[in-house]
Amino acid sequence: MGFHMKKLIVGNWKMNGDLASNAALLQTLMPKITSATCTVAVCVAAPYLASVQALLSGSAMQWGAQDVSQHEVGAYTGEVSAAMLRDFSARYVIVGHSERRQYHGETDVHVALKAQRALAAGITPIVCVGETLAERELGQTEEIVKRQLAAVIHANGHCISEIVVAYEPVWAIGTGKTASPEQAQHVHAVLRAQLRAASAHADKVHILYGGSMNAANAQQLLAQADIDGGLVGGASLKTADFLSIIAAAS
Ligand code: PGA
Repeated sequence: MGFHMKKLIVGNWKMNGDLASNAALLQTLMPKITSATCTVAVCVAAPYLASVQALLSGSAMQWGAQDVSQHEVGAYTGEVSAAMLRDFSARYVIVGHSERRQYHGETDVHVALKAQRALAAGITPIVCVGETLAERELGQTEEIVKRQLAAVIHANGHCISEIVVAYEPVWAIGTGKTASPEQAQHVHAVLRAQLRAASAHADKVHILYGGSMNAANAQQLLAQADIDGGLVGGASLKTADFLSIIAAAS
């Protein structure tokens, strides 16, 4: 990444929290986070966007959603459109999280469309890629992540430098098993090369690491040349842990 680029730490709250606990968490975090250090965002369940917007407006923290519809508008019961997310000033939206690929049948094509919808609405998609343990053991890691990113590049070529990429090895998510800094850096370098081949502005793309990032391992991961931040699940729900990760990124 360019030396001038601030790191980006994004909390992925997943399907956790309620009005009271969200407010308590953010009220503790907000005064400790200044935009001078690194960029910090939380991606929350859609029903909480309004309250999180109210809490964080005017603070140094950003907010976003965890999914967006691949459709623009219309008869898609249960879906939330990019325009709806924009109504609540969502800055980011996670697309293609492995939990959505795995439990909701999202394919590379869906993920590419979702990224397109987000970009068209002025929201930064955080595109998640990552291999399963079986794929890693078969030596397919590079092939898998390149295929996943290629679909998004193909559909969004002209504005690909506007996305954020998150490398999240599926075997590391919520398992307490983190990729070693070397393993993660290797994949991040592969992704960076792929972005460079697609765009002259590839170096401004944040490539985040996700998968059991915590207070103990964040510093080493974030010290790698191509690790520009983190997508943090479990540890983003614990104030002290999340603040340690932010400190490591600052
Ligand atoms: P984890 O989740 O930090 O709890 O492993 C990361 C993610 O799924 O984004």
